[in-house]
Amino acid sequence: MQYDNILLALDMLGCPNRCRHCFMGWRPNPKLTESDLRFVAEAFRPYAKTLTVSDWNREPDFGDDYREKWELCKELSSKDAQPEHYELASVWRLARDREYAPWLKSLGIRYVQLTLFGGEELTDRFTGRKGAYRDILKAIDVLLENGIAPRIQAFANKETVPELSKVVELIDSLKLEERCEAIGIPFACFVHQGSCDGEGEKLYPIWVTSGDLDKIPSKLAEYTVKHFNKPSIREVFGREERELYNELINDRSTESLGRTAPAVLYIDGDFNAAPNIGVPTEPWYLGNLNTDGPEAILSRLMNDESPAQRVRAAVPLSELVKACGDPESRRLFGRDDYIEYLLSRYCRRQGA
Ligand code: SF4
Repeated sequence: MQYDNILLALDMLGCPNRCRHCFMGWRPNPKLTESDLRFVAEAFRPYAKTLTVSDWNREPDFGDDYREKWELCKELSSKDAQPEHYELASVWRLARDREYAPWLKSLGIRYVQLTLFGGEELTDRFTGRKGAYRDILKAIDVLLENGIAPRIQAFANKETVPELSKVVELIDSLKLEERCEAIGIPFACFVHQGSCDGEGEKLYPIWVTSGDLDKIPSKLAEYTVKHFNKPSIREVFGREERELYNELINDRSTESLGRTAPAVLYIDGDFNAAPNIGVPTEPWYLGNLNTDGPEAILSRLMNDESPAQRVRAAVPLSELVKACGDPESRRLFGRDDYIEYLLSRYCRRQGA
């Protein structure tokens, strides 16, 4: 079995936060070593023309040896499939380590994304860590001092929408538009609902509905539309669940996710592997690297053998929505996110 590229993201150290929207799900922070990363890379190398290795799948650069880990990931990755840093960084580290932002800058990072839920109390609560908001304030200053623009992401649900005006107040009081302009990078921010999976699925009772969209402050809505390049804020948030329900209830299609899925694997601290077409939780597990080995994991991915893939390949959408959807709900979802939510829920009900 051979893939053109396999991308491995090993959760070596976990994350300082426990965000309520976290699609990766909560689990204890592991403490994996360099030799664990080498073991994972070498296990999968024979099955890929090119291999890309990443040392995190929750908080990037969480360990003090983040520079060494970055170099190790580059060494373990194929020459023509080197890891990307993306525009994600450790806010926890930005607030504590003065050498970190200059290092990010040296990698060519222009933006770093920071997540707010409203004011201080609400942001700390939804991030699951006291002091998270204060760290974000410190991170904003450190980033700008180093010529990197903070890009503000806000999450909308029934508890946070009333506080989104505080996000705008912060943008204005810190003069973020002007300060970004001064470093030559346009300010960016956006609001969205996230995906209803992992820990985020527990937010379903307070999920954003169409009536909430008018409450989003106009400045945030305008930046959001620009960020997603959509004609309106409604298009960013998707459709009401009841519309999607009425569409899917007549849809008898199934899908083999494994046939087209890229081999991008999340591997947790216990070496369980899950594909990034889903989330690293039980229904998506493909197996354990120690006990099942790489070939079985890749074969299960390709042949739809994780419980969630098996359900999606066999159970029509009409059955999923009939079992787990709400025909009255005005909650807003993108179609694909909604199908993934139905799938997770269905699997759990079936005890998959
Ligand atoms: S959303 Fe990101 S920062 Fe928050 S708990 Fe999950 S991995 Fe950590």
